[in-house]
Amino acid sequence: MTPWLNFRQIKQAVPMTVVLQHYAWKCWRRQGDHVQGRCPIHRGQRVDAFHADLRNNGFYCFSCQAHGSVLDLVAGIERCSIRQAALWLAEWFSVECGAAWSAADVGCELKGERIRKKEKVPGPLGFSLRPIDSEHAYLQERGIDADTATHFGVGYYAGPGLLHGRVVIPIHDDRGQLLAYAGRSIYEAYPKYRFPARFQKSSVLFNLHRARACGQDTAIVVEGFFDSLKVHQAGLHGVVALMGCSLSDEQERLLLAHFKIIVLMLDGDPAGWQGGLRICDRLRNRCTIEVVRLRNGNQPDKMSSTEIQRVLTDAVRRGCRQTQIVKGMNAYEGCET
Ligand SMILES: [Zn+2]
Repeated sequence: MTPWLNFRQIKQAVPMTVVLQHYAWKCWRRQGDHVQGRCPIHRGQRVDAFHADLRNNGFYCFSCQAHGSVLDLVAGIERCSIRQAALWLAEWFSVECGAAWSAADVGCELKGERIRKKEKVPGPLGFSLRPIDSEHAYLQERGIDADTATHFGVGYYAGPGLLHGRVVIPIHDDRGQLLAYAGRSIYEAYPKYRFPARFQKSSVLFNLHRARACGQDTAIVVEGFFDSLKVHQAGLHGVVALMGCSLSDEQERLLLAHFKIIVLMLDGDPAGWQGGLRICDRLRNRCTIEVVRLRNGNQPDKMSSTEIQRVLTDAVRRGCRQTQIVKGMNAYEGCET
């Protein structure tokens, strides 16, 4: 089925600012309705090459001469057709549905301006990055087998766009709908990770749909993507990642909705230990929680499969035993009355 697209409607409905924000574009200078920065299309070093006029919703690059509307911008960045750009814009920003938009900015303060953006809860992505290389040297270096990488859909992406030249990690919601890709730099450069601007890490748990599918009461909770890949590789498949060392309200809700026993294994550093304590305090009375405290400098993605199995199998067993005791006590209390 080929959906009918009104190019003019899309050009008018989607402000240049939200498209730039989608690509995590950094505004270098702003004057009135005029913004300047690096060109997201040819990606040169000049911070004054790319100019966008927010009133006309158009752009111009003095280096590569690219210019036009939001459609030309997306087509230029993605190296795709205008039609494909229109399809993506319509999807990313719900042009047809007229979804509720909220105010947002593009890196520099665009005060008093009405920029409209799609709802806060991320919607399904609607496309996937291909091809990706799940046997890339970077993954091997970090001890990730090709089988594990393929299972998670993780690999090196050489195609166009924001995630060009990065290892991409698909992120799904609890039902397995693809929401976004994170892009890990293969060099120790800043930023380590790139996320789409509209994506909110705090609204999801990485790998939850697969962990749920294990059908177990226990979830192993780690900080990062690579931690969960390593834990999975060690044979413990009920693992989710917070994408950080704090637990958001929504992540807490998701955890408690799907699991009764939480085994927490954050990084062995002050942030991980403090994060672990806070999470423990929050969850203590709401589920069974077991904490694996790693020594300084250690973290799950640096551990061998054997080491992971050893510490986690023990912790999972302790968690189950605790739950049994609680269950037993409840049954006893039940008898008393
Ligand atoms: Zn350019």
